[in-house]
Amino acid sequence: MNENDSEKVLYLLGDLYEQTPHPEEADLILVNTCSVREKPEHKLYSEIGRFKDQKKRNPGLIVGVMGCVAQQEGENLLKRYPHIDMILGTQGFYRIREALELISSGKRPVVFTDLKEDFKFPLVLPQKPQNRRVTAYVSIMQGCDNFCSYCIVPYVRGREISRKPEEILDEIKYLVEMEGVREVTLLGQNVNSYGKKERDFPDFAELLERVSQIDGLWRIRFTTSHPKDLCEKLMRVIAENPKVCKHIHLPLQAGSNRVLKRMNRKYTREEFLEKVEKLRLLCPDIGITTDIIVGFPGETEEDFEETLDILRQVRFQEIFSFKYSDRPFTTAKRFSDKLPESVKEERLKRVHSLQAEISKEIYRSYLGKEVEVLVEGISSKDPQKLTGRSTQNLVVNFTAPRLDMAGTLVKVLIEEAGQHSLRGRYLATLQV
Ligand code: SAH
Ligand code: SF4
Repeated sequence: MNENDSEKVLYLLGDLYEQTPHPEEADLILVNTCSVREKPEHKLYSEIGRFKDQKKRNPGLIVGVMGCVAQQEGENLLKRYPHIDMILGTQGFYRIREALELISSGKRPVVFTDLKEDFKFPLVLPQKPQNRRVTAYVSIMQGCDNFCSYCIVPYVRGREISRKPEEILDEIKYLVEMEGVREVTLLGQNVNSYGKKERDFPDFAELLERVSQIDGLWRIRFTTSHPKDLCEKLMRVIAENPKVCKHIHLPLQAGSNRVLKRMNRKYTREEFLEKVEKLRLLCPDIGITTDIIVGFPGETEEDFEETLDILRQVRFQEIFSFKYSDRPFTTAKRFSDKLPESVKEERLKRVHSLQAEISKEIYRSYLGKEVEVLVEGISSKDPQKLTGRSTQNLVVNFTAPRLDMAGTLVKVLIEEAGQHSLRGRYLATLQV
């Protein structure tokens, strides 16, 4: 989500600035921020502090903060960090050019943190085609209406708004035709509820079908799917549409019904398990990943065991697990039965070690198999190898007779299984 917003800002800036890999030489520094969890937010604060000295050396330097923390803190940031020139919220960053003009006419600091319910996303495309690339993210909606009790997103990204299908399709066509993109990942906090609030919008399953009709686009991914809104119609599209990748990120968060209720997730463990079973019945080779929060307020050892139990039953391909942290504005922040850090730490370790075993077995089950990989380019870890992902979203690094194969779909024989990736060798080219 954040990467996608940063990209939009680059497009909006056009020729005004050039990107530099050396922040110490920059004339404009814009820090994009995430406040979903506590850790990245703290990282931001140490980062901003550092730009103060740089500003002394280069008085023309403009420092801006955008994204969730900008939205959450707004003008408060200025009290601690008076050297910030602009604060652009989750809708405000679209006005970056206006902000820069205000600053150059001496009107600093600029704070754009309005959050409108009827916000119309501007369609932001590069002013000239960028480098050719294989994969791209496309936002299909913004905000969230679910108010899970631990989550800050509805407060900093506002109400759920779906983009018009025509705009989404135009953006993807542009990416395919002008930049050679072969795979898009459709982004939203809960893509399964796409279009539900609008009259005459397709639902998410229909949107996937429409996107899949774009010539030259080979693969479609999406994230995130809220389990409560995963319906059979969508499962069937995933199973039957050859362009839709056989992977779903389906955040469970917790395995105990009591905790799920206090999290306001609106599904039970039984409903979650039933959906997974149906999904696997319709699409046996699907890769399922999830998010887990450990140490939610009041989580007992028994509750936690129920999370471990689901991990054992479902056998997710990969999980992203987090220690619960208090976030501003949320209901859970006001719960009184918080757990000590040591308990959260210990539970996180237990989740990690159980999942490491499961993931290892899943990765090993691919040994000797042939998988289809969309080549993304040269592996960053080994310049002699290519890298890409299987339809299940497994990273595959492999040797090949040529290294200039980015953007092609190839068949790879899997010879080794690592902790978070597979290794193998090129067998044949399937599509160019
Ligand atoms: N919309 C997605 C999640 C967005 S946030 C969904 O509904 O699943 C990404 C992940 O961060 C969440 O899935 C959750 O596991 C984690 N997270 C969010 N708030 C958190 C908090 N207060 N403490 C710990 N983890 C949190
Ligand atoms: Fe946060 Fe829940 Fe919305 Fe996901 S669905 S963004 S966890 S409120």
